[in-house]
Amino acid sequence: MEPSPRQTVLRTELFAGSYRLEGKELGRGKFAVVKKCVELSTSKEYAAKFLRKRRKGEDCRSDIINEIAILEMATFSPYVVDLHEVYETNSEIILVMEYAAGGEIFNQCVADQDEAFTEKDVIRLIHQILQGVLHLHRNNVVHLDLKPQNILLTSSKPLGDIRIVDFGLSRKVDSVKEVREILGTPEYVAPEILNYEPISTATDMWSVGVLTYVMLTGVSPFQGDTKQQTFLNISQVNVQYTQEEFDGISKLAVEFIKSLLIKNPRKRISADQCLQHPWLSSTTISAPLTNTNLDQKEGEVKTSELTEEIVLLASY
Ligand code: ADP
Ligand code: MG
Repeated sequence: MEPSPRQTVLRTELFAGSYRLEGKELGRGKFAVVKKCVELSTSKEYAAKFLRKRRKGEDCRSDIINEIAILEMATFSPYVVDLHEVYETNSEIILVMEYAAGGEIFNQCVADQDEAFTEKDVIRLIHQILQGVLHLHRNNVVHLDLKPQNILLTSSKPLGDIRIVDFGLSRKVDSVKEVREILGTPEYVAPEILNYEPISTATDMWSVGVLTYVMLTGVSPFQGDTKQQTFLNISQVNVQYTQEEFDGISKLAVEFIKSLLIKNPRKRISADQCLQHPWLSSTTISAPLTNTNLDQKEGEVKTSELTEEIVLLASY
């Protein structure tokens, strides 16, 4: 990792001395719970991610430090969630982050027609996601878990700007020597992960292709009835671009997705090339709406459905 622009202090004083928790949980994974909180001194809202240091009897503190280091590295990207403070107790590390009031884009991906994204929305949001991803890739960081549950919105009505969260699986590209487990969520992982081939920035680009598909159609392109079927669909790149699903969606959008859902990682287009793609490059659609979106309190955040984060080889 390059020298960080700032070094986050791991505070040992009580989190509850500076914040009060508010409302129900924002989300929950295997080893983390995310709750909304209010900073007592400023009355500002934040999202606190409580991460257990011991998981399955193993000390995972260094994994959490890695997550923090990546968030620090990404401080200068407006599309990566901002890290405000970090607390450490005997059992947990608490990341206090900017609160993304619009919740997961997942909710709009599976919403009814009238609530769903338009192609124009998707163009603006994918443009922002790509700018965030490009920033990571320029710093040799891969996210490895880009999916609709980890892409949040600053507000949902009106539709705000995106914030990429959850760097729990992220890593420096050159530190990836061998992949021993299947990382990420079955529906979104790239074929090279299933085949234990090297991970690269192109691995994230596959996920951007899947994300674009889901955001435009509401359909998860590789999802099968079983995990095995999903994996088979991915490794055979068994994906349909039917008229029914892509009704009213531009040819350029389909071309864009097709240039990402390619089995050979070297043949996929990069984040840079995506931003030059005719589907995205025509207008200046990606500019953030306002800088005050975060102060809006619209749109209740639903707790996402729990999805399996890491599938061990043994269970495949
Ligand atoms: P996990 O590693 O358990 O998946 P995440 O960092 O993805 O943890 O957080 C879990 C969920 O919590 C997210 O999918 C999202 O719904 C919610 N969440 C996380 N960070 C924020 C935030 N900054 N603002 C609002 N909600 C958040
Ligand atoms: Mg997550």
